[in-house]
Amino acid sequence: MINIEEFWADAKDGLSISIQAISFEVWIDKLKPVCFVDGTIVLETISANAKRTIDTKYLDTIKEVVNGLNSSITDVVIILPDQRESYLSKQTVFIKNEGLVISEPPSQRVKKKSPFLEKYTFETFVEGKSNAYALAACKTVAEDPGQKFNPLFIYSGVGLGKTHLLHAIGNLIYKEKPQSNVLYVSAETLVSELISVIRNKSNDENNKFREKYRSCDILMIDDIQFLIGKDATQEAFFHIFNDLYHDNRQIIITSDRSPKDLTTLEDRLRTRFSWGLTVDIQIPDTETRVAILKNKASQMKFDLADDVADFIAENSTTNIREMEGLLNKIVFFSSLTNNIINTRELAAEALSDFIDEKKDTIDASDIVGAVCKYYKISPEDIFSKKKTKNLVEPRMVAIYLITDLLTMPLVQIGEIFGGRDHTTIIHARDKITDEIKLNPRVRITVADIKNMLLNR
Ligand code: ADP
Ligand code: MG
Repeated sequence: MINIEEFWADAKDGLSISIQAISFEVWIDKLKPVCFVDGTIVLETISANAKRTIDTKYLDTIKEVVNGLNSSITDVVIILPDQRESYLSKQTVFIKNEGLVISEPPSQRVKKKSPFLEKYTFETFVEGKSNAYALAACKTVAEDPGQKFNPLFIYSGVGLGKTHLLHAIGNLIYKEKPQSNVLYVSAETLVSELISVIRNKSNDENNKFREKYRSCDILMIDDIQFLIGKDATQEAFFHIFNDLYHDNRQIIITSDRSPKDLTTLEDRLRTRFSWGLTVDIQIPDTETRVAILKNKASQMKFDLADDVADFIAENSTTNIREMEGLLNKIVFFSSLTNNIINTRELAAEALSDFIDEKKDTIDASDIVGAVCKYYKISPEDIFSKKKTKNLVEPRMVAIYLITDLLTMPLVQIGEIFGGRDHTTIIHARDKITDEIKLNPRVRITVADIKNMLLNR
């Protein structure tokens, strides 16, 4: 940044050569440098009389000298003390070799408070196989927004770190490029904002809405699946998306399913979502889950025993938020009883209400009910012999979940499902077990239904 005092001192050196010594002393030496405004240097004198003389006799010489020192300064203005504030509010920060950077007026230059949660950073995000791609993509985008992966589309089941990553990007950009305008909104907020704009029919509000979205450098929309069925918002978002995209602004979107599976979202939006990079976050393996638990525990300054970490990680497999809930209970009970929970047995006892009972209260009809609700099919159909495509998968998923969550003999499961043979049950179970490993959509479906059941 060019220091105006130093710059003016250099200019005076030059002026002292081209202006007679006595005139220099009377008119030039007493001028005070105020600031730069665009390509103009602002100098202050004490009286209107002095200003008149300088303007008429010396202005051209001053212009020549300052321009010789820095070619982007092309004009000079002489002001009186009462104009000082008004010029200062319009001042420009000059960066050497980079031309001009317009700065905000001093009153607004106070650092804005970050809208991002401090605890959600890249440092607190534990990397594992399940999230490595998503993490790398988010870091790239945070370092170089709008350049490589645009839009970045991240999807996963609930509680697997999407919101955490968005805040991490926000926090990093906020720290390193505080002048960037990063906007984070949940799709839910977007919908309600738009409803209010439509309802109020006020042009002013409409303009504010457009301005808010179109002026951002980075737009993050969390949980885009919320736009399903909201046609007006989809339409508005489509235009916002296009404007930002064509302006090379970074767009980051999260969802609970892939663009392909956002089936009821307008095709033109789905297509656009696939223009950039799509990454998913899978369910973390036990090792990563344990690492996450240890990380959270150390943030809470809680000494988490390995056995307890293992126990929690084994009992909460599909949702990190839920797993954190179990850790919080351990921390809470430890502080309450002053008796640190540091063995598997104590942990099992402390969490028994939250783990075993929940599983105990689930029966086959709950599972079938949840599967039918998820796939929007009827129980009669799932139990029937019909082999249509839309029934085969839900039926197999229901069978898989029953074998996974209940201890029910295979023959009995076969009976529930319209007297099917136990080998059919084994086939269904194994098929879904394989699909979970190979097909992210099935994995997410199963995880979501499990969540529906365990978080009732
Ligand atoms: P989502 O938005 O996908 O539903 P969140 O981002 O809200 O999930 O994550 C749920 C919780 O799990 C948060 O507290 C988050 O910090 C934590 N979490 C998820 N993945 C990780 C990870 N890899 N490392 C650390 N914490 C994680
Ligand atoms: Mg979220």
